[in-house]
Amino acid sequence: MDAQVSPITITRHGAVAVVHIDHAPVNALSRGVRQGLLDAVRSLDADVSVSALVLSGGPGRFIAGADLKEMALPPDAPFLPEVVGAIDACTKPVVAALDGAALGGGCEIALACDLRLGSAKALVGLTETRLGIIPGAGGTQRLVRLVGVAQAIALVCEGRVLKAGEALAVGLIDAVVEGDLLTEAIARAPAVAKRRLAALPVPVGDPAEEAAAAAKALKGARGVPAIAEAIRVITASKDADFASGLALERAAFLALRESPEAKALRHLFLAEREAVKVPGLEGAKARSVSSAAVIGAGTMGAGIAVALLDAGYPVILVERDDEAAQAGVARIDALYSRQVKSGRIDEAHKAERLARLLPASDYAALADADLIVEAAFEDMGVKTDIFRRLDGVAKQGAVLATNTSYLDLEAIAAATSRPEDVVGLHFFAPANIMKLLEVVKATHTAPDVLATALALAKRMGKQPVVAGNCDGFIGNRIYAVYRRHAEYLVEDGASPEQVDAALEAFGFAMGIFAVSDMSGLDIAYAMRKRRAATRDPAERYVSIADMLVETGRLGRKTNGGWYAYDANGNRTSDPAVTQIIAEARAAKGIQPRSFTHEQIQLRLLAVMANEGAKELAEGIALRASDIDLAFVNGYGFPRLKGGPMHAAEALGLPTILTEIKAAHATGGAGSDTAPLLAQLVAEGRAFADWQKASAPKGGNT
Ligand code: NAD
Repeated sequence: MDAQVSPITITRHGAVAVVHIDHAPVNALSRGVRQGLLDAVRSLDADVSVSALVLSGGPGRFIAGADLKEMALPPDAPFLPEVVGAIDACTKPVVAALDGAALGGGCEIALACDLRLGSAKALVGLTETRLGIIPGAGGTQRLVRLVGVAQAIALVCEGRVLKAGEALAVGLIDAVVEGDLLTEAIARAPAVAKRRLAALPVPVGDPAEEAAAAAKALKGARGVPAIAEAIRVITASKDADFASGLALERAAFLALRESPEAKALRHLFLAEREAVKVPGLEGAKARSVSSAAVIGAGTMGAGIAVALLDAGYPVILVERDDEAAQAGVARIDALYSRQVKSGRIDEAHKAERLARLLPASDYAALADADLIVEAAFEDMGVKTDIFRRLDGVAKQGAVLATNTSYLDLEAIAAATSRPEDVVGLHFFAPANIMKLLEVVKATHTAPDVLATALALAKRMGKQPVVAGNCDGFIGNRIYAVYRRHAEYLVEDGASPEQVDAALEAFGFAMGIFAVSDMSGLDIAYAMRKRRAATRDPAERYVSIADMLVETGRLGRKTNGGWYAYDANGNRTSDPAVTQIIAEARAAKGIQPRSFTHEQIQLRLLAVMANEGAKELAEGIALRASDIDLAFVNGYGFPRLKGGPMHAAEALGLPTILTEIKAAHATGGAGSDTAPLLAQLVAEGRAFADWQKASAPKGGNT
């Protein structure tokens, strides 16, 4: 944007002045918008020829919220409360014309107006708690006067976005306009009376209902401090006048804004928007996909088929024979039945989705598919054979994807005569639920194939992260180092329970050993055996997991792995495991030592960030924030910590570097310091600074 051109312009329609906000793409409340709005409202209030104001964000927009990029910079006046205060104090009626998103600060501005008109496209809500903060410009205090305490708690704590009809039903907007919104707003404005929400009393509500709303919100808070603060500030409105409520809200907002949780959530919000910007894709147009196919209907294939059906595609499901195909259909049926049982969908939805599923055992059925996702066994021979066959049956231009977790994408692509059409689509289990989709690029993957994968992710509601081809791609490669070091800690003296407790105290829903038990110890075991011949002998190897598998402990499915499980599925420590661990230590002459939670957390965070730094330097990950997104959306890393790279930076890269040197001494080969980490520490720089400096020319990172 040209610094000289204000994003705010004014047009006159008789005595009505329209204040137009035009700050692409979403009219975020950056400094220029705040200043322009403030100047416009003050000057129009003083202009005797003006009788009423209309605020318009243009077609399809209003104001989508704060400018999060500015939040990382020193605060710059005018601040939002001043802008909202000027609208509130305006002596002339102000009409908000909401033709799109009026969220966060945009909703606070709308609430300061005297009339809120929405089109069918209006989206309204105080969404701040999603970013770990609360509204800071009177949003809670005005909303509570409009909808009451219980409803305000529910709306603010859930950060709910209301569509036009819902917003009308709760009273957040006054009318939904069918025709042209701006024309209608201009026509109505002269007759609108002043209606300052600030001057209204807080409606008297049912205390039991209010307590229930607060209890429900706290239950869903997942450690987000903003939830308790929102409840406190909204509830206080009952006993405080508007000005005191405003002061209370502002103080809470300012404190929360600087909290590590809010910084982490802001980081992830921006990371999501960055992740889809991929250098080299400028101008690439996604191929059209109107039908999809899945090869292999096991655990992953069934979940992927559900994700594709849910996204509206007809899905061809190819298995080895008719019996296996029918077993696949039964698996998909069962996944939908579970959703019906939990009330997520009804029988009619289930039937509609299953009607779009076409099972087959003949590859000829794939001839018309625009997108084919292979999810057969994790075996190079099986996969190259499938891709060779696809070469003969798939139509020209079809996207050929593989869900491989670890195998070399280049080798799979080379099995076809069209490597440019091949891409990795690495879904996570359960594939219909987990948000992460690693999109893996091989040397020859065409830009429009990558663009198709990103478009597909969007349609499926998944978070894509683009990865380069290497063993384990972005996520599993880091996870492997993380797991190895968790096992070193156990061999050196920590118990699996203690490692898991430290991880859970850090914010993981489940520790790494509990997760291993849930996914099954046999898969990783098979992989270790496969790699045994090529493993660097200088890498420390812990055989406890092998010993568990060899004694028949495969995890939850055998009723025991790293833990024992009671009839209710609760985990307990198992003396048999303690014995195996003691034997492993004794065999290596290790004297067990003790670890604090903090030491465990630091060690595991450091090795993750270190491996992430190696991926960045190699170009496997485009940016540190992509790694964060992968771990938060695919591996249960706590959102409130912002991902491993963000958490490492928040702790301080020098601390991480010192820790990684100790980790190297413990783990040997494969745990050495990432040169990029050492470089950043030496130069006092952050991952993001390095990325900016090293972004490819013409790239849009
Ligand atoms: P699975 O054993 O449950 O299912 C594989 C299915 O593929 C079986 O039903 C089998 O009959 C079918 N199949 C095998 N060869 C075939 C062929 N030539 N044609 C048609 N169908 C064939 O395995 P899974 O756990 O679903 O894993 C599938 C793929 O997904 C693997 O590459 C795996 O690495 C990857 N993956 C698995 C997970 C996970 O957590 N399980 C996560 C991400 C990726």
